[in-house]
Amino acid sequence: MAVALQHENMFFGTFWIGYDQAHQFSNEEQRYLDTLAGLAALAVGNAYLFQSAEVGRQRLDAIVASTPDPVLVTDYQNHLLLANPAAIDAFGKGIEQGKGQLIDEVISDQSLIHLMQSSREKIQSAEIVLPDEHIYLATSSSVVLEGKLMGRVCVLRDVTEFKKLDALKSEFVSTVSHDLRSPLTLIRGYATMLQMVGELNAQQTNYGQKIVASVESMSKLVNNLLDLGRIEAGVGLQLEMVPVYEILEKVVSELKLQAAQKHIHLDLMIPDQSIQLIEADQALLQQALHNLVENAIKFTEADGNVNVNFYSMEERIIFEVRDTGIGIAPADQQRIFEKFYRAARRGVHRDRGTGLGLTIVKSIAERHGGRVWLESQLGRGSVFFLEIPVSQSST
Ligand code: ADP
Repeated sequence: MAVALQHENMFFGTFWIGYDQAHQFSNEEQRYLDTLAGLAALAVGNAYLFQSAEVGRQRLDAIVASTPDPVLVTDYQNHLLLANPAAIDAFGKGIEQGKGQLIDEVISDQSLIHLMQSSREKIQSAEIVLPDEHIYLATSSSVVLEGKLMGRVCVLRDVTEFKKLDALKSEFVSTVSHDLRSPLTLIRGYATMLQMVGELNAQQTNYGQKIVASVESMSKLVNNLLDLGRIEAGVGLQLEMVPVYEILEKVVSELKLQAAQKHIHLDLMIPDQSIQLIEADQALLQQALHNLVENAIKFTEADGNVNVNFYSMEERIIFEVRDTGIGIAPADQQRIFEKFYRAARRGVHRDRGTGLGLTIVKSIAERHGGRVWLESQLGRGSVFFLEIPVSQSST
């Protein structure tokens, strides 16, 4: 008698039994053999399933193990589940024995711990320096299975070489900018003096003014590049306790004339009797706010409004610069803080800036452990927010 070994549409073979003498299979015997074949098919099916799952698991293990980037995986309770060989090389042997322990007991880098524990945002990145003195860009994301949070996976990419190149490039830019400063000052000086040494006709005066205007915009670019270079190079912050209102007042008074010339109402809202102090580098913070307010004036039509405001929230001060200007399209909003980025201009020619103003604001915010972001509607206006911690020790 032969019975097919079959399980869930899969055919594994045949199970047969034979006698060396004539034999009549009773019903009971047939049922027994059917059951036996069913059980055998089930066992073979399970073995198949296990084998394919095991092959899949081994393949995944091999991929993770041979990935040159360190990979860490935690469960939803922040226990370390996996550290691949690259992670063991980067963090040291300790991490291998730390499997099953809480992530903050295994690694010491606070920003990496924060990345691995964070459950708020799905994907987060941070730059960290590991004991091997390499700089890594760590990106962690939530592992979600059938809608349930299973844990987090973090991949670290070694960006040491890129950072070195970036530093080299910044050094080059700042050397060139520095060397450009003196000839520019000379050109400006001589162009201004032209009219002092002799009578100029209208066209010559006009050319002279054009030279001065161009040199001025070049000097602005050079100064911006130098500022950015200094901020990015991480020259120490000159921290002091500064009154928030005073800084804003300075910025607004510096730009009052510019606003008035364009017939723009520039207002500083004063919270009653505010004596709010902030620990910051006064010159840098002032520069960041100056850039934001200057932009607001620059990108607002005559008779528009620019309002400057601030409030404190959980140990942080949020500055708000609101304008009724031309607004920024969503696609530009994502790129506006990049170096040299300028949104495509609609309509008439406007002030050409250097495209570095907002990059400087972002660098200053980050150097203070803060951030900058915006809300904007094309044609309606924009609001730029600058958030700076009240005290630098809390960052
Ligand atoms: P720029 O020197 O060109 O002003 P920024 O980095 O300060 O350089 O700004 C980059 C671009 O962002 C600007 O060219 C402009 O297109 C846009 N932008 C900045 N602020 C505003 C604003 N308040 N309203 C509309 N567009 C703005």
